[in-house]
Amino acid sequence: MKRCIQLLATLAFASGIIGPGRTFGEDLGGVKVALSADQGPAVVQAQLLDKFKVKVHVDAHGETRPLAVRVDLPNSGPNIWPAADVEVRDAGGKAMVVQRTGIEWFKLSVPLPTGVTDFVVQAVKPAGGWSKPTSEKLRAIQDGVSGVQMRIAKWHGGRAAALSIRFDDSHPTHLTKAVPILREYGFRGTFMICPGASESGGRRTSEFDQHRAEWEALAARGDQEFANHSAHHRGGFGDEDMEAEIGEAAEAIWKLVPDRSKLTALNLGGGTRWDTTRTLRYYLDKYHHFDASENSTGMDDSYGNRVENFRRILEQHLQRGLWCRIHYHYIGDGLSSTEANFRAALDIAKEHSAKLWIAGMADIFKYQRERDAATLELVESDAEKLVFRVRCTTDPTLYDQSLTVEIVLPPEWKPDDTVVKDQQGTVISTKATTVDGKAALRFEVPPIEAVYSLRSAP
Ligand SMILES: [Zn+2]
Repeated sequence: MKRCIQLLATLAFASGIIGPGRTFGEDLGGVKVALSADQGPAVVQAQLLDKFKVKVHVDAHGETRPLAVRVDLPNSGPNIWPAADVEVRDAGGKAMVVQRTGIEWFKLSVPLPTGVTDFVVQAVKPAGGWSKPTSEKLRAIQDGVSGVQMRIAKWHGGRAAALSIRFDDSHPTHLTKAVPILREYGFRGTFMICPGASESGGRRTSEFDQHRAEWEALAARGDQEFANHSAHHRGGFGDEDMEAEIGEAAEAIWKLVPDRSKLTALNLGGGTRWDTTRTLRYYLDKYHHFDASENSTGMDDSYGNRVENFRRILEQHLQRGLWCRIHYHYIGDGLSSTEANFRAALDIAKEHSAKLWIAGMADIFKYQRERDAATLELVESDAEKLVFRVRCTTDPTLYDQSLTVEIVLPPEWKPDDTVVKDQQGTVISTKATTVDGKAALRFEVPPIEAVYSLRSAP
């Protein structure tokens, strides 16, 4: 048996030998390893050691130019890697510098320092492990005694799907066009800002800085959400520089909205390069961020047919009960999205607004995480009463989005006469509705452990 495994490992290793320009298939569980560009006679070999661990060996074969290895990790499907937790270490266990682009963290370029021929690419399990959502069953109560059925709603307010509308790069038209138009519709957008000051050397003048007072006024109003697009949208070169680019922007956002949870979306920006020895998780955890760089549909007119495309993807997300993410750059005639096309997309969102939760990216992320970390438990019940407990394991200082509970009442309980109270006896306001054609109540609870009671008569 042991020999058999050794033989398999040898075969896997051997099949990993590739020359320049050649890449892998399924031998590495979907991971692709190749030398970057033309590297002369050099050859790379790779072997899957564990589910999230690949060993790479490079043979220079006399090539004297600096070598770099490209590693593409699967970012969807059954073999998906947790890209935010990935690091690269040399044979001595030292963390190596990895280059990536801002919005494709699963694509790694590993420059080989002189003398280094071997390294491992691995995902490091975060403290407490990778989060596993609670099951649908644990988020629901089916009580035979009272006849009450209840569950935590898929999305806030019992909506079928969620929509976030993102605006990148703190462009002045966000202040003059996007915000006033969003307000007309009553929508909340997410503004990915680059709040760093202009840098000496003129690499980029800060548009945010030129309109700082207006951004501050927007923050004070509190109806839109801010997110981190790095301080200067220029990438980060080395651990310290990357941390400064993320940390400076995070601090600026917390200062803009001091009374809100520090949990913020992070998007490092398209077309930027980031060189770091650390995992992305290090930065996400330290600055209370979540990675918001993927699975978003660009709405720039240059991509073509944006409005109809949006109608189609939104309907798909509504059918599947998913989070639809779209993003814009500049709004206005002659800019990346015309005002007419922007309004046309918002009209489509409005048509679906009864079934669609239109919210900030952090609002939606929080709801999703809290729901995944929540359970409902039956404490006691009889024909006229039910007592239940909500548990939620997320940190309430960061995760402060209320959860929606839906209760389907037994036929003899009248929605108007049914009262929900918290443990202190305070009446919780409820909304009569229908769920799957049956009389139901909907109400909000904070994402913390608490006990509630439900009575068929006051
Ligand atoms: Zn950008």
